[in-house]
Amino acid sequence: MIKQFLKAFIYALIPKVCIYCERALSYDTKQPLCNKCISQIKFINGLVCQKCGLPLDTGGAHCYNCKKSQRKFYINFVRSVVYYLEPIVTLIHEFKYRERTYLKSFLGGELLVNWWQKNFNLFPNIDIVCCVPIHPIKHFLRGYNQAELLAVEFSNRLNLNFEPKLIKRKKFTSSQFKLSREERLQNVNNAFSINKKLIHKTVGKNILIIDDVCTTAETINQCAKPLKEAGAKNVFGLVLARDV
Ligand SMILES: [Zn+2]
Ligand SMILES: [Zn+2]
Repeated sequence: MIKQFLKAFIYALIPKVCIYCERALSYDTKQPLCNKCISQIKFINGLVCQKCGLPLDTGGAHCYNCKKSQRKFYINFVRSVVYYLEPIVTLIHEFKYRERTYLKSFLGGELLVNWWQKNFNLFPNIDIVCCVPIHPIKHFLRGYNQAELLAVEFSNRLNLNFEPKLIKRKKFTSSQFKLSREERLQNVNNAFSINKKLIHKTVGKNILIIDDVCTTAETINQCAKPLKEAGAKNVFGLVLARDV
C-alpha cells in the first residue's frame, strides 16, 4: 500500500518521457510514446491470409503455410493489428516483463479498440471475450497475465462480456520465440483445456480470444480447440502484434 503510494508520488515528480526514445512528453498527455514514435507504429492494413492473418505481399487467399500444411485449424480465423516492430516491441516488453501494466490502456484500449471499430463487421456478434492463459506458475512469478489485461481493457471499452477463466493452460510450455516452426506447433499441441464449470456458457456461442503477440498463430489456434470441442459456434483470434 505504502509502496504503491510512493510509486505514484515518484512517478508524478519525474518528467514524463517517451518509453521508446525518451524524448520529453507534455504533462497532460496520456500516450506512452511521443508523436514521432506513434507515427512509426506499423499497422497491418493490406492483404492478409484469410486464416492465420499473416500479411501477404501478393494476392491469394491464404499464406504458404496455411495452404500447404496439414495443420488443423480450430479457430475460424486470426487477425493482428500491428507488426511486432519498434516501438511496439519495447512497449510490449515493458508491459509484459517490467510491470508497466498501465500500458494496457494504450495497447488494449486504443490500438485494439480502434482496430475493432474499423473491422468489427468481419465478425458476427461476439458473445464472449477471453484471453490466452498463462501457466499458473508463470502467473505467480509475473503477477499478471498481459493478455488478460488487454482483454479486460478491450471488453470494458466495448461493453463486451469478458470471461477470464474460460481456457486453462495444462502444459508449462517454453517461450515460442526461440523455437522453429515445427517445434512451435508441437510445443503448444494440446496445451489448453476448457474450464469445465463454464462449458454451458460456450455452447452455440461466438467467442473472441485475445493475445499480445503471435508468430504462427498456433497458440491461439490451440486455445480454440477445447472451445470448439465443447460446442462453441465460432472462435476468432485477435492479436495485438504479429511477429513476421
Ligand atoms: Zn518517442
Ligand atoms: Zn496463413
